[in-house]
Amino acid sequence: MFSQNGKQLTVLNNFKFKFKYESKISGYKTWECTNKSCKVKLVFNKEKTLIQEKSVLDHTHEADSTIERQAVSNSIKRKISESNINEMPSKIIRKELRSLENDTQLLTNDFLYIRRNLYNKKTKYHPPLPKNINEVHEVLINMNITTNKNENLLLINDKETNIIIFTCLTNLKYLCSMEKVFMDGTF
Ligand SMILES: [Zn+2]
Repeated sequence: MFSQNGKQLTVLNNFKFKFKYESKISGYKTWECTNKSCKVKLVFNKEKTLIQEKSVLDHTHEADSTIERQAVSNSIKRKISESNINEMPSKIIRKELRSLENDTQLLTNDFLYIRRNLYNKKTKYHPPLPKNINEVHEVLINMNITTNKNENLLLINDKETNIIIFTCLTNLKYLCSMEKVFMDGTF
């Protein structure tokens, strides 16, 4: 599992631990509780077997109730890629929830958190928001904008007139084949 800033975490009994150091002599890895005021440590040997639970029950604080939502959020973020970037976030989240056990403890607030994380991840696949009209044209030139049938969707991108038209040839042909066309617009 990973923390919000991408650091690896390990979880035991709903307590989170972050990696502290690896012993050069024994190869043992020590993880410490993410709660700064807590002294609980886990030590793993080279075979990744837990060999020492220093006073695991003596945490100076409550167990973390956000572990499940963090795990779900992690899992969803891992599944976001170029291929499903345009899929509806609600659909992605629903799919993930279906794969969970029914006894999930997640609350509405957790979903807001998961959704926000999902959007944050998605924005990493998009170029930065343009600051002026020229940048809009530039961004569009560099983006490969196609339909789901791989047809070019950017018909006009004119810097002189600042006109941008999105459509594909198939749609235009379909429009041309119609006898009557009803239109709507904002003028
Ligand atoms: Zn602790």
